Amino acid sequence: MIERLVKEEIKRVPPYIPGRGIEEIARTYSLPPEEIIKLASNENPLGASPKAIEAIRANAGRVNIYPEAMADELREALSHYVGLSPENILVGNGSDDVMEQCVKVFLSRGEGAVITPPTFSYYKILITMYGARCIEVQLKEGEIEYSFDEAALLDAAEQAKLLFICSPNNPTGNLVPEALLREMLERDVIVVLDEAYAEFSGTSFAHLVEHYENLVVLRTFSKAFGLAGLRVGYCLASEEVVDYLARVRQPFSVNLLAQLAAIAALDDRDFLRRSVEVVREGRRYIIEQLRKLGIKAFRSHANFVLFRTDKQGLVEELMKRGIITRGCESFPGLDARYVRVSVGTPEQNRRFVETLEEVL
Ligand code: PMP
Repeated sequence: MIERLVKEEIKRVPPYIPGRGIEEIARTYSLPPEEIIKLASNENPLGASPKAIEAIRANAGRVNIYPEAMADELREALSHYVGLSPENILVGNGSDDVMEQCVKVFLSRGEGAVITPPTFSYYKILITMYGARCIEVQLKEGEIEYSFDEAALLDAAEQAKLLFICSPNNPTGNLVPEALLREMLERDVIVVLDEAYAEFSGTSFAHLVEHYENLVVLRTFSKAFGLAGLRVGYCLASEEVVDYLARVRQPFSVNLLAQLAAIAALDDRDFLRRSVEVVREGRRYIIEQLRKLGIKAFRSHANFVLFRTDKQGLVEELMKRGIITRGCESFPGLDARYVRVSVGTPEQNRRFVETLEEVL
């Protein structure tokens, strides 16, 4: 009976496949949890800013009161960080949440939305969930890095109302070229530019929000700020777009402790700087070591590295030895030969490389 009652578009929604967790792997392979290294979900290997943790401790007793609905204090702090006005900022329960508001506001049933696989899987889930049409323009695999199929993308934009562009892209690590981004923005479409990993690349197109009213830049506290478990994300967009997105969000979507921790994290530039340094150094080390082993490792501007090997069952073999990486068979356009590894601490990266050598 349920099958008959469920909406057709919901039946078509593909599942979201998260990275595997430490507890699960500890149980499966009878390993002590403390010996397992998780390099599967692009989290911050340094943990979170001590200032953010202190803010949570200090305010735990205040959870009987509602948080600020629009998180005005956090938007004010963010406005200094990104160099835009608070009116250009909307916060959400992770950037996933703000992403959903974009789909709700702009995509009607049957309308086209472009994604560029292999990319973050939640875009397609959202597009399908709201009955819109997902137009897929595959990225091109190069010798050193992935790139956008510019002609195909601009062509697809003609039939679309919204484009999801991820830069640096998850899982390939490549950036969108500015000229291509501007060309898309010249069209009559909304461009949702997902910059979840921007801090690690040192580049951002957030400033273009002042020039293009159809640009929505998504950012998050889950990566460089190390607050993935708290769920705080935001977008930068024209005031008009922010007003529409605000209409469809839950009034108190970012909880009180998350707002206060995010404000404290923004105040801890030292932690942010160290996080970015550790990732850049680790990324360089991992790519260099993989290439020394004769493995094709793609250039990355994010906190992960995509590589390709012909070794069957590599992810499983690593897991048995306590290293969790992300097999990429669920990413359209990739298969089991592709593996994504998040950059960890220097010690974790070394253990990953040594274990990989052992397995190979
Ligand atoms: N965008 C991309 C490209 C991601 O990889 C992720 C998380 N893996 C997200 C957005 C979601 O981040 P958040 O935790 O802010 O919801």
